[in-house]
Amino acid sequence: MTGMHPLGSPLRRLRRARTLARHPIEEAAWNKTLADHPILRGLEEGERSRLRDFATVFLREKRFEPPQGFVLDDETKLSIAVQACLPVLGLGFDWIGDWSSVIVHPDEFVERRHDLDEAGVMHEYDDPLTGEAHPFGPIVLSIADVKASGWGDGYNVVVHEVAHKLDMREGGVANGCPPLHADMDRSAWQAVFARAFEDLRGSRRKRRAIDSYAAENPSEFFAVMSEYFFEDPRVIVRDYREVYGLLESFYRQSTLGRLSGRRAP
Ligand SMILES: [Zn+2]
Repeated sequence: MTGMHPLGSPLRRLRRARTLARHPIEEAAWNKTLADHPILRGLEEGERSRLRDFATVFLREKRFEPPQGFVLDDETKLSIAVQACLPVLGLGFDWIGDWSSVIVHPDEFVERRHDLDEAGVMHEYDDPLTGEAHPFGPIVLSIADVKASGWGDGYNVVVHEVAHKLDMREGGVANGCPPLHADMDRSAWQAVFARAFEDLRGSRRKRRAIDSYAAENPSEFFAVMSEYFFEDPRVIVRDYREVYGLLESFYRQSTLGRLSGRRAP
């Protein structure tokens, strides 16, 4: 976290310390959440306690917006909070501090889409969505997909949308390259990710093993790779070891060691 406090600037840290003191997550609820999310296994004591702090701040600072008449239970809120905070555990809370609401839908939601093609024709269609990330705005999640996330099988809608938000931190544009740390090389990132993306597009076998949504565009590739990184990194390591290495440098976490029961040296 080079120089930066995990909970941000001195002023924010003060406010967030008050949140931690006044609105702690109950012990039983926290332990149940740890047990219910296999992707959290292998976290060290210090990491677990930082995740708990981040989740506490998340629950306080983000507004949950369910549809009218739908009550979002505390367990689901906490599940969203831990899975949204996991990707920034090594980065600092401020990486997800620039947006304020989480819009939730009970099921996959239908969005009326409009696409204007080159001939000027507007195509409209209904698109069932599992999640969305808006530049400078909220993330949108289907509860059905939140419940399908965190099991260690490679699918995670919360991590996916948070990865888009991290990707968008540079100018609100998702292009598959989030703002990198000073010790990372942007051209190396772009070369490795472009090569892996093209390779995936060209391989039917790999598209069966890896969610083929990753082959849509570079931004989806980054978001889907991030899902595997936190759920089942072996899938990335098998075909794209260099991608795994760059994600490890970016997220500042070694998920392969942690999730396979052995820590990296
Ligand atoms: Zn996406």
